[in-house]
Amino acid sequence: MSGGCTRTTPVASAQMLDGSQLFAEPSLNSFLALGRPAWHATREWLLDLVQNENERDAVEPHLIPLSAVTMQLPFEVADYVDFYSSLEHATNLGRMFRPDQEPLLPNWRWLPVAYHGRAGSVVVSGTDVVRPQGQRKAPDEDAPTFGPSRRLDFELELGFVVGTPTELGEPVPVEAFADHVFGVVLVNDWSARDIQAWEYVPLGPNLGKSFQTSVSAWVTPLTLLEDARVEAPAQDPAPLPHLAGGRDWGLDVALEVELNGEALSHGNARTLYWTLPQQLAHATSNGSAVRTGDLMASGTISGPDRGSEGSLIELTRNGTEPLVLPDGVTRAFLEDGDEVVLRANAGSLELGEVRGRVVASI
Ligand code: MN
Repeated sequence: MSGGCTRTTPVASAQMLDGSQLFAEPSLNSFLALGRPAWHATREWLLDLVQNENERDAVEPHLIPLSAVTMQLPFEVADYVDFYSSLEHATNLGRMFRPDQEPLLPNWRWLPVAYHGRAGSVVVSGTDVVRPQGQRKAPDEDAPTFGPSRRLDFELELGFVVGTPTELGEPVPVEAFADHVFGVVLVNDWSARDIQAWEYVPLGPNLGKSFQTSVSAWVTPLTLLEDARVEAPAQDPAPLPHLAGGRDWGLDVALEVELNGEALSHGNARTLYWTLPQQLAHATSNGSAVRTGDLMASGTISGPDRGSEGSLIELTRNGTEPLVLPDGVTRAFLEDGDEVVLRANAGSLELGEVRGRVVASI
């Protein structure tokens, strides 16, 4: 579903759908807060509307081609947390950021590591990304300088959106995931690698990420992903009891990154080591409450094979092996004017794309 779908309101009102007034609001949050039975009832109602020939006269006047609308951020983002749940991505980044150490830190296989992102910087697909400025210090420099990032990157991720909130002190066990989560969005966690590398010790990413995060204009309901559910990769060691389970929430969702019209990478969300229910269980295991509109993203999804990495820093081996694009130009990191498009599909089901063009620093 997408936000600002005010044109459903006349039909919903005429048919006295429960909560029809909620679709006149600029975001889906009030609808998401209604919970799973209402999500189900609305979907059933909508399916009947578009499939039932008798409803054609009522529905057709309100249909608008997608090409004629400007898509809006579908939900008001309450909190934004970004995990680090791909084993291959965490291993690749560990090798680059800490070349003298074991790539995975000791906690990685015991809990889904995350940092807290900036909800106010989450924007809808189609929004330009302004090259961020910040402190950068190359290993051979004595002191940092301030200026535009020279190592701007994308991160291909899958995020989930919380509908039903919890109270403080109420953990969400892995089995209750679908009672709280409405659906998923595709996410581009834009990252300034030079700013990130200098700032991240010891508290994790901050300004290297917080300048902008882009999400699809469509939230794909979990119920549409039922056929995409697969067993997730085996975990070793076995997780502690509060994170055990949720292994039937691997998602066979094909992923693609396109740069300036050329496909750079093909991956799949089924490779994630920590599943979405385990991420939510971990995030609430200390009693932290979740709110309607909370966005929790997977972290960059990278596969084991070359060409399945979800970021440029991995695809180019930290910039040392620039990609040669078909027109002969090379890319180590993103240049001004570059356009990145993330796409995902589960069979014939397409998730909304995430599109963004890099513009020069202000
Ligand atoms: Mn990320």
